Amino acid sequence: MATKKRKVDDECRIFNKEWREKYFFGETNDQKASCLISNESVAVVKEYNIRHHYEAKHLSTHSKYSGKLRSEKFESMKRSLESQRNFFTKKFVENESIIRVRCKIVNKLAERGKPFTDGNFIKECMMEAVNDLCPEKANMFGCISLSASSVVRRIEKLGENTQLQIHEKAKKFLWYSLAMDKSSDLSRVSQLLVFICGVKCNFEIIEEMAPVCSIHGTTT
Ligand SMILES: [Zn+2]
Repeated sequence: MATKKRKVDDECRIFNKEWREKYFFGETNDQKASCLISNESVAVVKEYNIRHHYEAKHLSTHSKYSGKLRSEKFESMKRSLESQRNFFTKKFVENESIIRVRCKIVNKLAERGKPFTDGNFIKECMMEAVNDLCPEKANMFGCISLSASSVVRRIEKLGENTQLQIHEKAKKFLWYSLAMDKSSDLSRVSQLLVFICGVKCNFEIIEEMAPVCSIHGTTT
């Protein structure tokens, strides 16, 4: 009895193409139905719900469209909704490429050991070039955040990821050795560098710099 009831419910939940022009509704990618006029969705795709939404909210303003006029109205609303959706996906792709470009620039700063504040300088140079060569893209380039704080955040993330990778590799070492060295940074603080060299069971040898520890006070 229960299975039969579910089957009937399922049948009701398939969007009927007749409802498009009849109630100005469209089916969405996630198998729901959404109103083209108010952009609201119905909880369950059933003619009763869709008709109720249309009659309660749009009948007074949209009953005047009939026949060919109604089809045209429906098509134009559908087109404008589709272009809006394209707009959203385009925006999303743009954001993703902006993040990618920022990561690449920050990686370069880290690789060369440049100060975090150099990000601001790179941004300035980039904006000079963009404003001159393709001013229509200035907004997009303006979104690439290279302030010192965002460079720091990104480099910290890179560091965490590198550390995680070393941990994962070190778990598979059969034997390992440590080597240490001392170096001073720009502010003359002594830095203890620890290198790890290990061998895995397939005789693959891995050598990486493990942690860097700042040593305050005496270093002997
Ligand atoms: Zn609506």
